Amino acid sequence: MPVSIVLGTQWGDEGKGKAVDYLADRMDMVVRYQGGNNAGHTVIAEGRLLKLQLIPSGILYDHITPVIADGVVVDPRHLLREMEDLRRMGIDTGRLIVSGNAHMIMPYHLELEKVTERFLGKNALGTTKRGIGPAYGDKVARIGLRIQDLFDGKIFREKLEVVLREKNLILTKVYNRLPLAPDAIVDEYMEIAERLRPHVADTFSVIHAALRDGKEVMFEGAQGTLLDLDHGTYPFVTSSNPVAGYALASGGVSPMEVNRIVGIVKAYVTRVGAGPFPTEQLDEVGERLGVRGKEFGTVTGRKRRCGWFDAVLGRYAARLNGLTELFVTKLDVLSGFDTVKICSGYRVGGEEFADAPPHQSLLHNAEPVYEELDGWNEEIDEARSFEDLPKTARAYVRRIEELVGVPLRVVSVGPAREQSLPVA
Ligand code: GDP
Repeated sequence: MPVSIVLGTQWGDEGKGKAVDYLADRMDMVVRYQGGNNAGHTVIAEGRLLKLQLIPSGILYDHITPVIADGVVVDPRHLLREMEDLRRMGIDTGRLIVSGNAHMIMPYHLELEKVTERFLGKNALGTTKRGIGPAYGDKVARIGLRIQDLFDGKIFREKLEVVLREKNLILTKVYNRLPLAPDAIVDEYMEIAERLRPHVADTFSVIHAALRDGKEVMFEGAQGTLLDLDHGTYPFVTSSNPVAGYALASGGVSPMEVNRIVGIVKAYVTRVGAGPFPTEQLDEVGERLGVRGKEFGTVTGRKRRCGWFDAVLGRYAARLNGLTELFVTKLDVLSGFDTVKICSGYRVGGEEFADAPPHQSLLHNAEPVYEELDGWNEEIDEARSFEDLPKTARAYVRRIEELVGVPLRVVSVGPAREQSLPVA
């Protein structure tokens, strides 16, 4: 059973890019399963800094087939731009394949997201304004255009005209904007079709052929578990499902094929934008984590909110995804604190919760119950084995392992490939 799934266990930005890059070494195929070009993985490999938004991190290895599966929403203009940027850096993108079933982000999605976010005012979700939410919305409403529609000009135009009739009414009558002309979109997208054609494939069959041949296939999630549309802190979530279960729906693979589910865990917690965050630190602790951890969004540049590690939510993510191992990142950021805290439970109105409370109002009002552990003063980014780490740093990650209840496999102490320390 050679399928692994790798995903973020928090609110995204756990360092998935780096973890996937490290784990991809032994893979034959890396499949991105949800989200769009709002993800923003940062990978540093062989001294090169790469910011990938849509293309799977596996693109950096010549032996890997990178796949964009059905459940991703693809802005084809962005995809071509990202491929071009990689090519300019000397990275071969010829192996990349995209599912014909994936839905496309269209110009009206971008336009509509801009105006609706403005309309929501202070209740705005703070989206990345890449048209991802509206594209998923149309997918569910069954008026979406898929990549395969690009290869039948007549169908493409027909579908587009139907959708535009409604979208243009909304744009002009509700938001007082100019309508979009179908002709211009058809012309542009027919040109895109020719450039994309060599990369569009029946990814379902390609993935199954790889599995039949005993190849190692890794599914790569974007965002994080707590941003899951169904299981996250709704409505402050993303418009797709980062949880492990969705990797299978997206790729068209049976749960029986999976033998490994790696949870990426940042050694503390961050969150972008609004929504509950029980362990948030609004004082110098949060400030220090943000500065040392360089906690600014890859896509938006927004400052991330920072706080102590939350083992309640860690356990929730472990259960929800069926994690088989943990990959802890950014432990180096915690150097220099006299003591470090881990939230092991919540108190809400006199009641204690060991698990994530079932109602969001409870989570909003949750007071963390902390365990306080000894910190370490020395910088640890030069450690090259787990045993090189100070005793207190090892005790800290071991306590995370214990509270989350999933074996620890790797600890990362810096952004580079060689700063990932396997744990025996
Ligand atoms: P992702 O979307 O989950 O890949 O996360 P981001 O790329 O937004 O954020 C992770 C950032 O942390 C990137 O800039 C990485 O290079 C960096 N990073 C990853 N692992 C480590 C680590 O162990 N220590 C430090 N200091 N930085 C790390």
